[in-house]
Amino acid sequence: ATKLMAGKRGLIMGLANDKSIAWGIAKALAAEGADIALSYQGEALKKRVEPLAAEIGSTLIVECDVADEGSLDTLFATLKETWGKIDFLVHAIGFSDKGELRGRYVETSPENFRMTMDISVYSFTAVCRRAAAMMPDGGSLLTLTYYGAERVMPHYNVMGVAKAALEASVRYIAEDLGKDGIRCNAISAGPIKTLAASGIGDFRYILKWNELNSPLRRNVHQDEVGKSALYLLSDLGSGVTGETHHVDAGYHIVGMKAVDAPDI
Ligand code: NAD
Repeated sequence: ATKLMAGKRGLIMGLANDKSIAWGIAKALAAEGADIALSYQGEALKKRVEPLAAEIGSTLIVECDVADEGSLDTLFATLKETWGKIDFLVHAIGFSDKGELRGRYVETSPENFRMTMDISVYSFTAVCRRAAAMMPDGGSLLTLTYYGAERVMPHYNVMGVAKAALEASVRYIAEDLGKDGIRCNAISAGPIKTLAASGIGDFRYILKWNELNSPLRRNVHQDEVGKSALYLLSDLGSGVTGETHHVDAGYHIVGMKAVDAPDI
């Protein structure tokens, strides 16, 4: 059978190491025949990203800091020069001051509020605009979000506010670009132990809580996010846009879990 991503080219942003959600997605897409370009932040990550790129046969690897418009322009100019057009884009990027991913949301500083919104929200809009200009045959755009956008989760704080804005921007982008055959969705992943997650206060407790209270009674793996990303980025998801799709072992549907061995 023809592979789901055969003949499709696209960019994955936010690969830091083999624990990254971006890596789960990259592997799933590569296994289905996608041609993948990778962008990473800062020279320090280069030596981690290069061997991973080699594993999936990716030769287009570009440094890009999404806080810098010039850096984004350079990235997309490189893509345009090399490929002309693309079919998909994955944005797996978020950032906030670690010092504010604990304690009270109400203490958020104006500087960190703006920085978090800039890197974790606006950057998706900035890359979608540039990617859409390279999608004459339509395409699929994807970002990563978390349940802290919908409900209060301990220590998620300003990042929860940013993810709520990110999810709203997914809907606006879906409407803006839908008439050009471009879809835009988010995956709301359950907690996964990555570099970014380790900055969140009591993250181990959050992992344990999800394991005990989600309908599947376990946490999710980045490869499972990868499989759902494959659905949204391939023709399998052709009728889906503006959606926030939960890959969280069902945690988001639980109001209160029943006692597993009822004795009360
Ligand atoms: P990660 O640390 O592997 O990835 C985060 C990436 O963001 C890194 O590659 C980092 O270099 C990049 N980044 C940060 N600032 C940047 C900038 N200015 N320019 C370019 N890149 C920048 O962690 P991850 O958990 O794989 O995070 C990927 C996405 O998934 C994030 O949006 C995160 O909020 C989201 N997410 C994570 C979880 C989880 O529990 N790990 C759950 C739901 C959603």
